[in-house]
Amino acid sequence: MTELEADCSRCVGLCCVVPAFGRSADFAIDKPARTPCPHLGGDHLCTIHEVLPERGFRGCTVYDCFGAGQFVVQDLFGGAAPSPAMFDAFEVVERLHELLWYLADARSRPEAAPLHDEVDGLRDRVSAAARSPHDVDVTVLQSRCGALLDEVSGLVRAGGPSLRHADLAGRDLREEDLYAADLRGAVLIGADLRGVDLGPADLLGADLRDARVAGADLSQALFLTRLQVRAAR
Ligand code: SF4
Repeated sequence: MTELEADCSRCVGLCCVVPAFGRSADFAIDKPARTPCPHLGGDHLCTIHEVLPERGFRGCTVYDCFGAGQFVVQDLFGGAAPSPAMFDAFEVVERLHELLWYLADARSRPEAAPLHDEVDGLRDRVSAAARSPHDVDVTVLQSRCGALLDEVSGLVRAGGPSLRHADLAGRDLREEDLYAADLRGAVLIGADLRGVDLGPADLLGADLRDARVAGADLSQALFLTRLQVRAAR
């Protein structure tokens, strides 16, 4: 999993150049795609990193490239300077590395042992695509991953309530039984999950922004990303 963690010191600030973002609660300015953020320093690091929320860039604090940045810069482009070809690659590899994160989680679950060979095969396909990101149809791989992760989730959760895509924004969920729940794609913005034992709940794509998670047990949660954890309170 460590190669799926961002190492900004080996990147050239791709996440601060490639994506567009618009003025909102998460970003203080409008920034077009493939344009460096004005706060990006000459050393490719953020000049306001320590005060991002105070300066109106909360969105940057919850971003995660899953290690795509340094992989593209170092492994694919040999440490070269930023270029349009590098930007193209980053857009693809970022999405593929997110898939690799989920597949690594799936592979670590003993309950999903009957599917481990399939997970390995798909991981190899996604890894190969990341090494050669041109002409990759990411949606095909995403679709295949989605189906396989669904099967993994079924084996690992072995039951549990289905709340897939449920709108639970702002809800007090402290008394709910969410152990091993299917919360894939659920909207949990501002929800109160304090002290809740989620067990192996499937949190793939769940929106945990500002959810209150103090004392909640997320240690076994499936497909939980650092991005989601950082977005919660
Ligand atoms: S504010 Fe900092 S972290 Fe956010 S895009 Fe700009 S340079 Fe990057």
